[in-house]
Amino acid sequence: MKYDVLIKNLNSRNINAYYCKDTKETNKKILDMIPNKTTVGIGNSKTLKTMNISKKLLDRGNIVYDKTLAKDKDEIIQLKKKSLLTDWYITGTNAVSMQGHLVNIDHSGNRVAAMIYGPDKVIVVIGKNKIVESLEAAKDRARNHAASLNAKRAGYNPPCLKVGKCVDCKSKERVCFNHVVIEGQYDHERMTVLIVDEELGF
Ligand code: SF4
Repeated sequence: MKYDVLIKNLNSRNINAYYCKDTKETNKKILDMIPNKTTVGIGNSKTLKTMNISKKLLDRGNIVYDKTLAKDKDEIIQLKKKSLLTDWYITGTNAVSMQGHLVNIDHSGNRVAAMIYGPDKVIVVIGKNKIVESLEAAKDRARNHAASLNAKRAGYNPPCLKVGKCVDCKSKERVCFNHVVIEGQYDHERMTVLIVDEELGF
């Protein structure tokens, strides 16, 4: 894997990027980057769940808005709203092209909204399995691979779960109302991608 090429291409889009050899190093990097006591929004992500980063931040004094820790639907709505104006936001993404495009699918849109605008700083954690050669391949990965697996994880049952690819459904079980490509950043200090040399998430 040519991580140095991906890092250079992300940098050319005003996105900082660092290589991390494993999730342990990634957690340390995140905890070093984010000051204690700041507010942190968490985008729902299997990668971040695997890393258990919400608990690590909570334990050392950060205020964390993670909807997966909510006790009911009302609290989920409140946490999603609060996440939009935090000091920091941490999320995964569904695919990354070698040219540096971040391709995302999103159900209600709170995660991609926070990636685009609101939180002062954004950290995007990606496993090596998310990296593909081109923008088209990244869109294909998000739509035809990640969507159905995320649907299953969230307890939805759209048609792609059965047929193994997107059929552009209008199902009430649809999980991908938003398809968003982040092509770069206006503020070069805002977004950092951490590339983990492990397979993480879908
Ligand atoms: S539009 Fe429907 S079938 Fe296609 S990926 Fe989304 S949920 Fe699955």
